[in-house]
Amino acid sequence: MNRRTLLARAAAALGVLPVLRRSLRVAFAENAPARRVRPSDPAWPSHASWAKLNEAVGGRLIKVNSPLNACRETPDTAGCGDLFTKLQNPYYIGDNVALTQSAGWLDAWESQPSVYAVAAEKTDDVVAAVNFARDNNLRLVVEGGGHSYLGTSNAADSLLVWTRPMYSIVLHDSFVGAGCSAAQAPQPAVTIEAGAMWVDVYDAVTTKVGRYVQGGGCVTVGVAGLVQGGGFGSFSKNYATAASWLLEAEIVPADGAVRLAHACTNPDLFWAVKGGGGGSFGIVTKLTLRTHELPALFGGTLLMIKATSDTAFRHLLGRFFKFYSDSLFNPHWGESVTLRPGNTLEVRMVSQGLDKQQAETVWQPFLDWVHGSPQDFTHAQAPVIGSMAARNWWDANYRRNNLPNTVHSDGRAGAPETHFWWAGNQNEVGIFWHGYQSIWLPATLLQTDGQQRLTDALFAASRDWSVYMQFNKGLAGAAPEAVAAAKDTAMNPAVLDAFALAIIAGGRPATYPGIPGHEPDLSLARREAGRIEQAMDELRKIAPDAGSYVSETNFFEPSWQQAFWGPNYPRLLSIKKKYDPAGLFFVHHGVGSEEWSADGFTRVDAR
Ligand SMILES: Cc1cc2nc3c(=O)[nH]c(=O)nc-3n(C[C@H](O)[C@H](O)[C@H](O)COP(=O)(O)OP(=O)(O)OC[C@H]3O[C@@H](n4cnc5c(N)ncnc54)[C@H](O)[C@@H]3O)c2cc1C
Repeated sequence: MNRRTLLARAAAALGVLPVLRRSLRVAFAENAPARRVRPSDPAWPSHASWAKLNEAVGGRLIKVNSPLNACRETPDTAGCGDLFTKLQNPYYIGDNVALTQSAGWLDAWESQPSVYAVAAEKTDDVVAAVNFARDNNLRLVVEGGGHSYLGTSNAADSLLVWTRPMYSIVLHDSFVGAGCSAAQAPQPAVTIEAGAMWVDVYDAVTTKVGRYVQGGGCVTVGVAGLVQGGGFGSFSKNYATAASWLLEAEIVPADGAVRLAHACTNPDLFWAVKGGGGGSFGIVTKLTLRTHELPALFGGTLLMIKATSDTAFRHLLGRFFKFYSDSLFNPHWGESVTLRPGNTLEVRMVSQGLDKQQAETVWQPFLDWVHGSPQDFTHAQAPVIGSMAARNWWDANYRRNNLPNTVHSDGRAGAPETHFWWAGNQNEVGIFWHGYQSIWLPATLLQTDGQQRLTDALFAASRDWSVYMQFNKGLAGAAPEAVAAAKDTAMNPAVLDAFALAIIAGGRPATYPGIPGHEPDLSLARREAGRIEQAMDELRKIAPDAGSYVSETNFFEPSWQQAFWGPNYPRLLSIKKKYDPAGLFFVHHGVGSEEWSADGFTRVDAR
């Protein structure tokens, strides 16, 4: 028994373990660096040190150079024209270590490449990078799919751990966490390495073997980033969040020791990565998610209803939310409606477990009501209500052949033919955000006495900006098993009582600060940010203390600890301090980030 264990056992016997633990922790934190090192500092590692790291990671250390650099000085070349065509492809962006899916956010952040990146192929590469960053006091960044809205997977003057090359996916018929067989029944599952994207997981689990795994809606999002935020997909009203089904994770925290985390081993760390936010507790190298039986059918309902006056639009909203509450507020229905300019209601909903006729029957009373007032409402597009084999939902070839308008393909030479992205996500590729806000709307607003307030607030908000209501991102009305699983995650419990996540956001795709011809229009951006704020203020009036989803939220959220995690924050903070007492892992508005400057380089009490 070593001295520390002996001391701890003696202290436990005397009942002083918590006090001792606290003081050990404080001592460790006090020795923690106050400032991180930049390339201009004398303490920045020497060439020889970097060469040693390169050797340790099998030559996978990259000196990062952004392809955008060449276009800063000479933007009018054919090469730059070609680059900006490539930048419309999210796979091209994801495959480039210097780039992120969003280009930046007004007055918040601009995508900046790291100085060096470790293109990790295995857990040992991650361990070497974590140890190197900690020992050399570097700003460490982790990037998987690169889809962070808040810019948390990029930072200038940093060392990046890029997990893109870790993409193995292995299915299990009956998985039990190591050493957990007494406490856990075997489950069908899939083990996924940290750099995989959902498109590959859906191909392996659904298209190839006909099972369901809860992942993200956007298929190019990274698996590890999504799970750590919680993670919603189109069918979350039936299957809850991705984090709800995490069975095991392999994690490298700040001490560089590889840890398994599941219900029986490191259960605190396990709970924290289920919604506690990416990039804060360590680097997840692989994770195992339970899979589910696949329903026979998935489907979609697309409507675009235009009201001819403000009064008619108010009636339309009132009628729709009553109809939603009576007929759609259940595990069969997910996705969204958007209140668009010109008094238009766009319905883009999905169903699971219903055939075309069943879905039509559900919608008929609402459509009859709309058709009963032709002077008030018109269809801006022909309505579509349909269903298809669930197994084909993420099948790229099926979609190309049967529903070609729904997808774009990665057409680059050698790209897997399974790689597609939703046409609806195109306008977020390379986007520069002007504003982005979200709140969870409580299901009490669907009750009879709440509906009027809900529709009044939505109408008022829609005078300023489009309001996007994602029903699948609130778990009220979800299947009981889904709700029970989601309860045991670190997300703000407000998600359980919310019927939808309301998102109000705007920006411009393919916009890159500093690149002539692609610069954001800052005065337009400011005006739009103001209108987004005003629109969200209308919703805050009916949900003043509403939480917000950490992965899809406002960079400037003032009470982020409460908004993202509610009563779970103190527990998350204590887990953070246990596994990362010196704050090696920093992300904007991540757990424990209040101890650091906005750029993550300086401890707040050291300034
Ligand atoms: C176009 C688009 C569509 C989206 N659609 C959805 C959706 O349908 N449902 C939903 O829930 N969310 C959605 N999101 C939000 C998305 O879930 C989050 O942005 C998520 O964090 C992205 O993960 P990533 O790996 O792609 O991104 P990254 O930017 O690489 O990572 C996000 C965060 O996680 C950290 N991280 C990444 N990998 C690891 C790791 N291995 N270990 C530790 N930390 C890590 C990063 O440091 C960063 O802080 C969408 C985002 C975009 C841009």
